[in-house]
Amino acid sequence: MYEPVKVNHVKPNTMQIESNLDFSDYRILLLTFLFLFIIIFLRYIVLSGAYHWIFLVVFRKRFKEGMLSAQVPKSKQVKRELLYSTYSAIIFSAMGIILLLLWQNGYTKIYIDTLLYPYWYSPVSIIIFLLLHDSYYYWLHRGMHTFKWMRRFHMEHHKSVDTTVFTSFSFHPVESFLQALVIPIILVILPMNPIAILVALLVMTVSAIVNHAGVEILPRNGTYRKLHRFLIGATHHDIHHKNSRRNFGLYFTFWDRFMKTEL
Ligand SMILES: [Zn+2]
Ligand SMILES: [Zn+2]
Repeated sequence: MYEPVKVNHVKPNTMQIESNLDFSDYRILLLTFLFLFIIIFLRYIVLSGAYHWIFLVVFRKRFKEGMLSAQVPKSKQVKRELLYSTYSAIIFSAMGIILLLLWQNGYTKIYIDTLLYPYWYSPVSIIIFLLLHDSYYYWLHRGMHTFKWMRRFHMEHHKSVDTTVFTSFSFHPVESFLQALVIPIILVILPMNPIAILVALLVMTVSAIVNHAGVEILPRNGTYRKLHRFLIGATHHDIHHKNSRRNFGLYFTFWDRFMKTEL
């Protein structure tokens, strides 16, 4: 997409990735899978738990006005969300292996040498990643509310009407697969370095937690209105869980605005 400013003797898209990971050895494959699963699942539990603890326990009184779900989540709901989040972590770990294989074999645009692109490219690549991901998700999400065969799977996520931080990763495995599929697809077309990828994945996790936490942490004044003209927040996505014909976006509101599906 962007021309490198400094081109080494090897072009980034044909760069051979040196790696000690030999996936033809099933023990290495299994250990890598296990490592990815632990990282993905821990990231989800630690960030979700911390967010819930800060905004719904420690500062509960301060954010009382922003509470979107009146009731304390039922333990039955949280258990179900944790179970389906475990399935999601398994699917995302498998997709991580596929991405590593694509990378090792030179099919992705992932680059290690940051001098290959201008210094501003790294943050720009994160924004492009989020825009592509948002567009993919908007249409996938609308499809899941339109087509009966897809709706079946998406309804697992919608069992949580009053959402919790743990709803953020609670999807039927088929939906998790469809969601995770876009990550290697983006990285086949968009040059990104591993740090930028990790930042984009962190934004993905944090935004999902914020949008499902059941509390709006921004005061409903001018700042809130300005931010939420562009960004999806807890209130925006909470409306979707209560009225599933509106608010399909993931990070940004532009698709919902353009397609007139915003409430
Ligand atoms: Zn949701
Ligand atoms: Zn939905």
